[in-house]
Amino acid sequence: MSPEREVLPPGVFSKGFHRLKHGRFDITVLSDGYITLPSDILMPEASVDERRGFLGRLGGDAVSAPLQTNIPLIRHGNEVILVDTGAGANFQPSDGRLAGNLAASGVDPTSVTMVVFTHAHPDHSGGTTRPDGSLLFPNAHYYVNEAEWSFWTKPDYEAAMPKPLHEFARGAQRDLFAVKDRLILVKPGDEIVTGMNVVSTRGHTPGHISLELAGDGNLLIAGDVIPNNIVSFENPKWHFGFDTEPDIALENRAALLHKAATEKLRVLGYHWTYPGVGYVERNGTAYRFAEG
Ligand SMILES: [Zn+2]
Repeated sequence: MSPEREVLPPGVFSKGFHRLKHGRFDITVLSDGYITLPSDILMPEASVDERRGFLGRLGGDAVSAPLQTNIPLIRHGNEVILVDTGAGANFQPSDGRLAGNLAASGVDPTSVTMVVFTHAHPDHSGGTTRPDGSLLFPNAHYYVNEAEWSFWTKPDYEAAMPKPLHEFARGAQRDLFAVKDRLILVKPGDEIVTGMNVVSTRGHTPGHISLELAGDGNLLIAGDVIPNNIVSFENPKWHFGFDTEPDIALENRAALLHKAATEKLRVLGYHWTYPGVGYVERNGTAYRFAEG
């Protein structure tokens, strides 16, 4: 359980590799760097004063804040499993650090046997290919929720989706079509490896999934269902501007916070303060995050 931290080169927002054991899973949380989001996306309902307060606590400026990107590398038996691939060169200049951090932690990308996508937004699947289109993880099989696949890969996406989603759709198609020969479609309830189950947490995207890992108390790899460990915990009824199905997202966020607090689940959040692993504690009608 004890975290081991090592120093990474400067320029990487989150320094270190956080390691934890959970049941039969050996997990290293790697950083893909960070992304910067404006308060209009992060907390559209917040007042001017609330925005100022949260942006300050998140280490941001007057209009935006950095959010980290935590990618678990999971060893289970002979499998080496990545959950999401980060952004590669396809989102913001401050992310796309996964490949470097894998190398720094001594992991050869060819040794990765499975990649599971929580969803196909560019900060989660953009690192699937190199700029030349070749796969960064050529020996992996790629696990994608069938609802996520069918949402993004519609040939008529421009007619089927509102304009703000078109760029996300082009990115998702780039990443999903790149793995179509190594694709395994899954659905909620499926078991990826023994003790690792697919859980539907739709709303952020229509096929967003989380992974529940069996152990001494379960560990939930949440992806973006709870976007931030400060804003979303303290204001579970606020929307997140990147949610495709805003009200379903809110419902599932509230349900997961409730379940995690009640069952004392350990949760790993993609954009939470590195390494983003801990517990959900009730705090009046809201919640607070307890690292651990
Ligand atoms: Zn994200």
